[in-house]
Amino acid sequence: MVSEELLCNYVTLLTVVTLRMLDPPNDEDFMREALRQAQKAYAADEVPVGAVVVRAGKIIARAYNQVELLKDATAHAEMLALTQAEAAVGDWRLTDCDLYVTKEPCPMCAGALVHTRIQRVIFGCPDPSAGAAGSVMNLLQMPTLNHRCDIGSGVLQDECAAILQNFFRKRRSEQEPKIANPENLS
Ligand code: ZN
Repeated sequence: MVSEELLCNYVTLLTVVTLRMLDPPNDEDFMREALRQAQKAYAADEVPVGAVVVRAGKIIARAYNQVELLKDATAHAEMLALTQAEAAVGDWRLTDCDLYVTKEPCPMCAGALVHTRIQRVIFGCPDPSAGAAGSVMNLLQMPTLNHRCDIGSGVLQDECAAILQNFFRKRRSEQEPKIANPENLS
């Protein structure tokens, strides 16, 4: 015979699981996955930027910056994610898709986002030197182009910025002259 306490625990567990299933993933959940992609880039010694494409609440593409690996200046996370998403959808039009990226897109990626007609672009941290989603220019919402993307920003901003700062700090320390270390004088 099942005890009342056991039955009670079972019902609680079932409620929690059901609520989880009903609770749709939000911007932070998707940005968290983009951040996981950025961490893969970091581990591969690439500038740590990650991106995912979401359609109908599901991730259909995930990618990270692979410029060094592919020796291709166009291999930004967004570009790779867009190509994957086009393959998944079976069309170059991604009008019902959103793209999450850890850093504000550059002009090249912003151009590609407009060409693929992405519905909404959500980025983590701004890029004050090259950002093309409002920081330096806003190519995502040019009145004369045939498509404009909605923009969301600042999702997990601190974490998205920290991984980039850590990467460049590490790179600078590796490039500093080793003469500063007396052991290297011999
Ligand atoms: Zn880019």
